[in-house]
Amino acid sequence: MHGRQGRAELPFDGRDLGAAQGRDAALIAAVVDALPSPTVVLDPRGVIVLVNSAWVNDGRKHGLSIRPGADYFTEAVGLADDPDGRTLVAELRELMAGERSEMSIDRSMPGLSGTGRLWFHVQGTRVGGAGHVVVTHTDVTARVLAERASSWQARHDHLTELPNRAHLHELINRELHRPDHPAVSVLFLDVDGFKDVNDSLGHEVGDELLRQMSARLLEATRAQDTVGRLGGDEFVVLCRNCDTDGAAALAARCQAAFVEPFELGGRRLTLGASIGIAGTDGGNRRSVRSTELVRDADLAMYAAKAAGRGRVRVFSPDLRSAAETRMQLAAELRDAIAGDQLVLHYQPIVQLSTGTCTGMEALVRWQHPERGLLPPSDFVPLAAQHDLMAELTCWVLRTATGQAVAWDAAGLPLVMNVNISAEHFSAGTLTDDVAAALEASGLPPDRLVVELTETSVAEDPVSAAAQLARLRVTGVEVSIDDFGSGFSSISQLVALPAGLLKIDRSLVTCAAGRAGQAAAAIEAVVGLADAFGMRSLAEGVETAEQLAMATALGCTFAQGFHIARPMPAEDIPAWMAARTRGAAPLPLLTDAASLSRGLGSAVGSG
Ligand code: C2E
Ligand code: MG
Ligand code: MG
Repeated sequence: MHGRQGRAELPFDGRDLGAAQGRDAALIAAVVDALPSPTVVLDPRGVIVLVNSAWVNDGRKHGLSIRPGADYFTEAVGLADDPDGRTLVAELRELMAGERSEMSIDRSMPGLSGTGRLWFHVQGTRVGGAGHVVVTHTDVTARVLAERASSWQARHDHLTELPNRAHLHELINRELHRPDHPAVSVLFLDVDGFKDVNDSLGHEVGDELLRQMSARLLEATRAQDTVGRLGGDEFVVLCRNCDTDGAAALAARCQAAFVEPFELGGRRLTLGASIGIAGTDGGNRRSVRSTELVRDADLAMYAAKAAGRGRVRVFSPDLRSAAETRMQLAAELRDAIAGDQLVLHYQPIVQLSTGTCTGMEALVRWQHPERGLLPPSDFVPLAAQHDLMAELTCWVLRTATGQAVAWDAAGLPLVMNVNISAEHFSAGTLTDDVAAALEASGLPPDRLVVELTETSVAEDPVSAAAQLARLRVTGVEVSIDDFGSGFSSISQLVALPAGLLKIDRSLVTCAAGRAGQAAAAIEAVVGLADAFGMRSLAEGVETAEQLAMATALGCTFAQGFHIARPMPAEDIPAWMAARTRGAAPLPLLTDAASLSRGLGSAVGSG
């Protein structure tokens, strides 16, 4: 009748297909045979009475030959006795008994010749009145695999392949709702200084670092723990069957896993992590949902980080009130900037060759009506988070330039240094805002220095360089603040149109017995500045020895508590007058003995 290859293997003889006889039976056989999916017709007992070519061919592919006369339930369904298989049998029997008119089910079977698992969409339809059933088997393996892959992707982080935020919450919730109530703890881990790496070495290096970190975390944790990534440099570890003491031990292991430097494109970088812990034990009974547990661990991490890098902190309820305070402050900050609650303190900058005070750095504070005088660390990051940075900086620029003009009129011609943040920088309004402040105050441009940190320019060095170049053309000096505290590539930094390098306090401050190392670091930076025609400033000079060292190593300027602490504007004239009178001479070490004492042996010999 037709020439399909499997046709000859269809021994359909019209036997007992309900009332169909002769030509009808042949027609039915032809229709079934034309169906693209493997199809069988069963009699009311489940015996196969008809198979089509697709069934025969597909069976051959899998090394199977189930032919008419065979029992469908034992031979086909019985190949995989699983819950789906049992449902399939039950529903087919109902179909045969006339209790339903159709059924369909997805079921998976092990591939028979090493082909991996297969999925079929099995569909049964009752035909005729005697209880015959047509069953089609559509291979949906490709679709199922694609769906599985996309559902896996939806639950995992593409970079590290760890569970992502949504999946982590799912897993934590599942653990929290176990009927046997095991102790559950969560570690919230944030990499210290990750932004610096990302900003200065590029996102690809940052990505590679995250992959290496995730591998080390997997190594450091136990088999029953789950390591996931929330995003950025934030990892969460779900510690199953683990109280906060156990979690603290685990946190220590995670930190130990970061001690060995990371190898990144030929560089060796050491980075630590701050870790917060929250668990279902110890004062945290309230936290029964995963979102609360993770948030509490996050708060503990925040406290750990605020206490200094590389620490571990277990959540306690007082942390929540501290977070509420921050929220409250953020809400009040806008009014504080617009109103008159911000104040500037000024820290003298001394030219080392002459010992005279030539400039001031303006440092912002918030005179809060209830909380007192707040340092910048309490609110400058909040301003950045709440998009208030440009407003804050404009206020600082206006006030500081106005103050410089006032001092000038009083016979104190000082250069004013103002800090600019990364956010303001990337907003692209820096040049205009600086120009506006200079115009409003009447301060000559060469009496203003803008200070930028190396990381703030690293995000978009090209645009940064363009803005800085425009500033310098107008006569405003540019200074790189906190030099040596990040990971910036030196070639990138010296390419910036800046005229002053401020050497970070961490390089200037030397631990007892390590003066030689501090000296070597300062000497290197001063040499670099010289080579590029820049001047240098030693920040955070706290002792006479450090001051002597900065002088001997050729720094142009110094600034630090040893010279003067930041102070309100009204105290500056008296401080300047006292210095000029010699009542508060610059505590320079001029005699040879104390100079060599200050420098230590390394400088003496170098
Ligand atoms: P910075 O620009 O590096 O300012 C120097 C900081 O070091 C000041 O802290 C100053 O008080 C402190 N300092 C100076 N000498 C010494 C010393 O000898 N020893 C020690 N331990 N510290 C010393 P402050 O005022 O708390 O400011 C901290 C940071 O806040 C500043 O670091 C700057 O990055 C930021 N900041 C301050 N004012 C502003 C501002 O108006 N705008 C922006 N965007 N950031 C600001
Ligand atoms: Mg500064
Ligand atoms: Mg600094």
